[in-house]
Amino acid sequence: MIGILGGGQLGRMTAVAAARLGYDCHIFCPDKDSPASRVAAATTVAAYDDEQALRRFAGSVDAVTLEFENIPAETAALLAEFRPLRPGWRVLETTQDRASEKRFTAAAGLGTAPWAPVDGPQALAAALDRLGRPALLKSRRLGYDGKGQVRIDAGDHPAAAWAAMGAAGGGAILEGMVDFACEVSVIVARGANGTTACFDTVENRHAAGILDVTVAPARIDAGIADSARAAAVTLAEAFGLVGLLAVEMFVTRDGRVLVNEMAPRPHNSGHWTIDGCAVSQFEQLVRAVAGLPLGDPSRHSDAVMKNLIGDAADGWPALVAEPGLAVHLYGKRETRPGRKMGHVTRLYPRGAGANGWASRGGDRPPPQEE
Ligand code: AMP
Repeated sequence: MIGILGGGQLGRMTAVAAARLGYDCHIFCPDKDSPASRVAAATTVAAYDDEQALRRFAGSVDAVTLEFENIPAETAALLAEFRPLRPGWRVLETTQDRASEKRFTAAAGLGTAPWAPVDGPQALAAALDRLGRPALLKSRRLGYDGKGQVRIDAGDHPAAAWAAMGAAGGGAILEGMVDFACEVSVIVARGANGTTACFDTVENRHAAGILDVTVAPARIDAGIADSARAAAVTLAEAFGLVGLLAVEMFVTRDGRVLVNEMAPRPHNSGHWTIDGCAVSQFEQLVRAVAGLPLGDPSRHSDAVMKNLIGDAADGWPALVAEPGLAVHLYGKRETRPGRKMGHVTRLYPRGAGANGWASRGGDRPPPQEE
């Protein structure tokens, strides 16, 4: 029995992968009727700081993993006392805080965007003088999908930007804008025995701060794709984590790879692996958590994944009627703007698909965007 903290679509797809290997999952999450609980053997509905519920949960599972990194330190400590928590506290603590994440990345010898910690409007004004404009103000904690982020252009007032960021418990960082050629990510799995297995470097396009399309493999120089993979492996080994590490990176116009952010869990930019690889990111996580050997992460097909955000999922009758399209719906009861409701993946012959239309038509968009 694998315990999963969190009941969203990442937990749901992990539980489905676990079922394929014969494991049951027990979901722990504060919400009733969550996407993950509806495909799991058991669910505990309780707050993440409910000690009694956590103890009972730990007693019912053999290992614990998670589908989101923002769990309290006490929760992680309590669970780790009873059962293997994979990934463990060290990587969670670092990735919960953008400043620690940047320091960790630099200590591992990898580049990031220029940045400075800021704790109020005055420090922000000083950091703006140093880093220039435009710049991005990001809350150190609890930011995702562009939330807790404010762009500061020429003429914008630091105090107004600070207020617009919202309650920044734990402070913020200011980041210089990177004029990137593209955004890429790499998902690496690390097993209990220390072996690593890396999926291909993929290219990500965002819309309104949310991932829109992932193209696998990334249409970039092979040497740059290799350095992105090497960076992800370096970070996973530096953490010594057991599980998955997703690393989002910028590729600069002069071919450098800069680390933007990381997540110690399955990642939206790895959903294509369900259809494009023999072993998906979700199965790799299950294998790592269960102490099994990692699977072969190589892709059998090129793939383009598109997220179904908000009411885009209402078009599912047409999507399931489309030949060759793999449709994944998360079963969320309520559609909200900006909410991830599902995704679709289209496969292409390896080497001829995503790269194929890149070479045929330059920047012609993937078919499902037309
Ligand atoms: P994040 O939450 O840090 O992943 O930021 C969300 C998105 O905002 C990224 O995927 C980029 O598209 C953009 N972004 C974040 N930081 C920067 C930066 N320093 N320079 C340029 N674009 C950025």
